[in-house]
Amino acid sequence: MTFTPNFEALRDAALGVDDPKILDGRAVAKALRNEVKIGVDLLREERGIVPKLVVVVVGEDPASAVYVRHKVQASAVVGIDSERRVLPANTSTAVLHATLQELNEDDSVNGVLLQLPIPEHLDEVKAMELISPSKDVDGFHHVNLGRLMSWAGVIEPCTPRGVMTMLRARNVELRGKHAVVIGRSVIVGRPMAQMLVRADATVTMCHRYTQDLPGFVGQADIVVVATGVPELVKGAWIKEGAVVIDVGISRRDGRLIGDVEFEAAKQRASSITPVPGGVGPMTVATLMENTLRATLLKHDLKIEDGQLLEA
Ligand code: NAD
Repeated sequence: MTFTPNFEALRDAALGVDDPKILDGRAVAKALRNEVKIGVDLLREERGIVPKLVVVVVGEDPASAVYVRHKVQASAVVGIDSERRVLPANTSTAVLHATLQELNEDDSVNGVLLQLPIPEHLDEVKAMELISPSKDVDGFHHVNLGRLMSWAGVIEPCTPRGVMTMLRARNVELRGKHAVVIGRSVIVGRPMAQMLVRADATVTMCHRYTQDLPGFVGQADIVVVATGVPELVKGAWIKEGAVVIDVGISRRDGRLIGDVEFEAAKQRASSITPVPGGVGPMTVATLMENTLRATLLKHDLKIEDGQLLEA
């Protein structure tokens, strides 16, 4: 392993100080960022290496601007250098590809991320495939998704990996448990199911064509919902004592809400992530973790028990 956070340091944060049922993503993300910072400091102090992340943005999507700001701010907190590379909305395929190629070849850059969505005239999948797998800190390149499938991943999609970190920080038993994942996108649902299987859960994947969604949710010890359909999952569907992870983010009446009917679900769940303040902060903190991992990988290094070692 290149780098794994010290989970003891994450455990207190996952306990939900104000409300024991809340799985507080902000607190766990803060603890994870702190762990990453320890690693980044080690790299800098012992080897003079400072990880660098470049976020490529095409056009001016207002929601993306907020996400990019969070990524840049998180980088500063953990000591990772970051840069926003902003291209105009009418950027040609050739210019986007040349930009990604240049970043692949730039030795000072360890992580390259193409902020989605990109304008429609550009091919998202093709562009992602151009990012070198060793710098693909989003973990969306087919090589990295394939490695995840073979359980040999080093850089894995941030959102599901962040969910796994939260579950482990909370000491949620996964072995032999029934996990139900709702949503099958390549950025959340599919890699999420793979990670849960790897952790010895029995996994059911549900999606928009699933019949009897309440029936599946009712059997779940762990439910992960990533659909973008506000309050799709009703509180009454949740099995008593289940762990509920709400990935969804929608806007209603100027506030953010998730895919789960939060208050009702909380009555039955043993723990539940809020929206906002649940999975979202974990995604950004995991991006920092991935950037550190990509940097260690490049230099054939690993961090174990707080020590920087040859891999
Ligand atoms: P997507 O649109 O790519 O996929 C949605 C999935 O939900 C599809 O697989 C679809 O089959 C399924 N679905 C839709 N309606 C359904 C229904 N009625 N019943 C069952 N399944 C249904 O979405 P995505 O990119 O995976 O994002 C999902 C949500 O998660 C969005 O709200 C997004 O904003 C949010 N998200 C949050 C984070 C984070 O860091 N918190 C990261 C990524 C995505």
